[in-house]
Amino acid sequence: MNATFEQLRTRLAEISDLRKAGQLLSWDQQTMMPPAGAGGRAEQLATLGRMAHELFVSPETGRLLEELRPYEESLDPDSDEASLIRVSRRDFEKASRVPGDLRAELTRAAAQGYQVWLEAKAASDFGKFLPALERNVELVHRYVECFEPGEETYDVLLDDYERGAKTSEVRAAFAGLKEALIPLIEEIGDEEGDDDVLEGVYPIEAQRRLSQEVVELFGYREGSWRLDPTVHPFASGGGSSDIRITTHYFETNLESLFATMHEYGHGLYEHQVDPALDRSPLGSGVSLGLHESQSRMWENLVGRSRPFWRFLYPRVRELFPEQLGDVEAEAFYRAVNRVRPSLIRIHADEVTYNLHVILRFELEQEIVEGRVDLRELPEEWNRRMWEYLRVEVPNDAVGVLQDTHWSSGLIGYFPTYSLGNIMSVQIWERLKEDLPDLEEGFERGEFAPLREWLGEHLHRHGRKFTPTETLERVVGGGLDAAPYLRYLREKHGSAAAAQA
Ligand code: ZN
Repeated sequence: MNATFEQLRTRLAEISDLRKAGQLLSWDQQTMMPPAGAGGRAEQLATLGRMAHELFVSPETGRLLEELRPYEESLDPDSDEASLIRVSRRDFEKASRVPGDLRAELTRAAAQGYQVWLEAKAASDFGKFLPALERNVELVHRYVECFEPGEETYDVLLDDYERGAKTSEVRAAFAGLKEALIPLIEEIGDEEGDDDVLEGVYPIEAQRRLSQEVVELFGYREGSWRLDPTVHPFASGGGSSDIRITTHYFETNLESLFATMHEYGHGLYEHQVDPALDRSPLGSGVSLGLHESQSRMWENLVGRSRPFWRFLYPRVRELFPEQLGDVEAEAFYRAVNRVRPSLIRIHADEVTYNLHVILRFELEQEIVEGRVDLRELPEEWNRRMWEYLRVEVPNDAVGVLQDTHWSSGLIGYFPTYSLGNIMSVQIWERLKEDLPDLEEGFERGEFAPLREWLGEHLHRHGRKFTPTETLERVVGGGLDAAPYLRYLREKHGSAAAAQA
């Protein structure tokens, strides 16, 4: 074994330990911590983050990576060792380009911007938020200047969330989506099943049992998962054998179950990364887009499918006899699949959701290229909400101020949500070739074949390859929105409505 490589590996393992400890502190903050702990927790997280960053960008890491070039060339590029060196070098080069004082300013502006955004949103006053947004955009420009210019400015930002993705490629995929979805949504109109059948009070305790049962039904290695309540659901954890997922229970609906299935998909990806990659920068999902492909798959392709509900509905009825006793399985299925244009992205159905994302993706490019006056952002937002979804925006709180991302300077993040939708169906079509009876299995409550296929073909690679290479390995090609559009048309188009 190469001694320099062992030194690098040990160093990266320690950095991974610090980062995982930070993740667990964040998980604790959002699930268990008494509110008064917030001040101390912010300091603890800042200290851990700084230690991990300094250890990583130190000249010693650079020296080890440089010395390892000949060793790397002697290895199979697909090996864990070569991948660890290659990926770490790229991460190192990226992290080293941003000066410490700019990094500190970005962090400070993000924290301040978030506070200002909370107040502006509560007052539904975009003007209040504008100075913080201007500051964040200015810093984003300084950040972009740290890197070699891409084809376009936005490429640098997108790369932080979807390594190597090109804005032009995403734009092309989204253009096709937008062109097809606007008429599809019009065609669906208001015909789809009524979700009023779901109105009622659903006791939290029964919802908690249901979420727990579904996670166990989908499956995981014993003793390695937790499910806890939180305000905004997320998945986190301390490594592939310590998965923490969260959900939020509303008394008036069953959204918690869909959030649980969504977070299960994220958790499963982390859970099935090859354990040999634990305690290394390779030991997690490769990108936000591919991660979202997994959460969307379990939430929508499994969790909103007829075969799944044929299996689960009797149990759900048993848990909520008063609420659902009179509701037939088909009516329930249609209610949880209802398509209806609405104001808020995070509550949007699987068809209209993408237009919320495309709107933000377009505005973000215009913002970083200075093609839109920030003061006119609310009008631009509202105009597009009407153009794409025929939704009128009554105020900024439910319009341009609804999401937290821009308040913390996160530009380039939004497109990964729809990239996830697109890739989820590409992967689904591919896996159905190997597992033609998959959905019949769902009717019997069998999910192991899906889980295992995903582990074998996608999850185990972790961050060894780029997102594009990873997708290529799974589906044998690049990003393609056609399968996703086909799926949406078949499930929600007028032909599907007539048939049901
Ligand atoms: Zn997600």
